[in-house]
Amino acid sequence: MKENPTNLKNIAILGSTGSIGVQALEVIEKNPDRFQVEILTAGNQGQKLIEQALKFKPNAVVIGDESQYQAVKDALWSADIKVYAGKKALASVVEAGEIDLVLNGLVGYSGLEPTLKAIEAGKTIALANKETLVVAGELVNRKLQEHKVSMIPVDSEHSAIFQCLVGEFDNPIECIYLTASGGPFRGKKRNELENVTIKQALNHPNWSMGAKITIDSATLMNKGFEVIEAKWLFGLEAEQIRVIVHPQSIVHSIVQFTDGSMKSQMGLPDMKLPIQYALAYPDRIASDFPRFNFMNYPNLGFEPPDTETFPCLDLAFTAMRQSGTAACRLNAANEVAVEAFLKEKIRFLDIPVLLAHCLDKGQQITQPKYQDYVDTDFETRRMAWEWVEKMKLVTI
Ligand code: MG
Repeated sequence: MKENPTNLKNIAILGSTGSIGVQALEVIEKNPDRFQVEILTAGNQGQKLIEQALKFKPNAVVIGDESQYQAVKDALWSADIKVYAGKKALASVVEAGEIDLVLNGLVGYSGLEPTLKAIEAGKTIALANKETLVVAGELVNRKLQEHKVSMIPVDSEHSAIFQCLVGEFDNPIECIYLTASGGPFRGKKRNELENVTIKQALNHPNWSMGAKITIDSATLMNKGFEVIEAKWLFGLEAEQIRVIVHPQSIVHSIVQFTDGSMKSQMGLPDMKLPIQYALAYPDRIASDFPRFNFMNYPNLGFEPPDTETFPCLDLAFTAMRQSGTAACRLNAANEVAVEAFLKEKIRFLDIPVLLAHCLDKGQQITQPKYQDYVDTDFETRRMAWEWVEKMKLVTI
């Protein structure tokens, strides 16, 4: 029998073999008196999932790729860990009664369904999967209210805003500033980005993250998605959300209140900090993460984003103002664009062109229901791949 004193928080980690999942397990390993791993899920990294499960002894694991079910089951059988497989299990495992908090570290649209299921099951959500809110923020917010569930952001900028708002109750926000590192191509102009390689785009200056979000950072689409994420998390209008480039990534974001006072949260760029804050909220727990040293940062810089070279940020504002399924289209088109770029089917500068195409030409549905998002995602992906195929013919 496992020990389970009442002060232990039982955590389900969705996407445990990804960047967020791995760092969350590092946090949990350092705090065995606070956290216990209840569920781990992975898409197709079966071997890594097995290693994590043998170390952290969860109650159950899910492997998305059904062909790996037997291998994972055989490896975990003697450890008395339940094994499930497939897409359905990935979404429904969050309903297990013992879970206190679900950390959603999935990438992309796939994170939406498990988030909704976890809310319906009344679980607190620690959200690293920003696409959940980009695609269906309106629906997610309605469900959060309906089931009286709280959502704690893990995205570093939103964690910063969230931390600035603790203790402010209903004090009105004038605006927020989301800080952006500017990514690997900050300062470059369009003509310098024509022949960008995958390796260059994956080389983020400050943050260590997965491939998809790193490409999104290079195009500034990530910041655009964060604008939409902030709208839903903090109930803001487009006019209240501003983006400021801050290359050092020390000021993680800023809230400006109606009296003109500004609050920010700062620290070295390390995702373990917002992950730990979300897991332990409302507590702060001691950590041995490296500390900021002023002497290493004599100057902190701020500059406006270059929206001419990086049009994705404006596309996000356009989608946010259109509301309905517009941001869902933008997200689906972007997932295809990033995949196509990583497979060398399109060039870096094609990404925003493809996104604008799908945002303009796709069908807009106002007041969407869940199925409308599913259909929009499907239809937009089809449209985007069609564009990619045509593009290939033109360039050859
Ligand atoms: Mg972020």
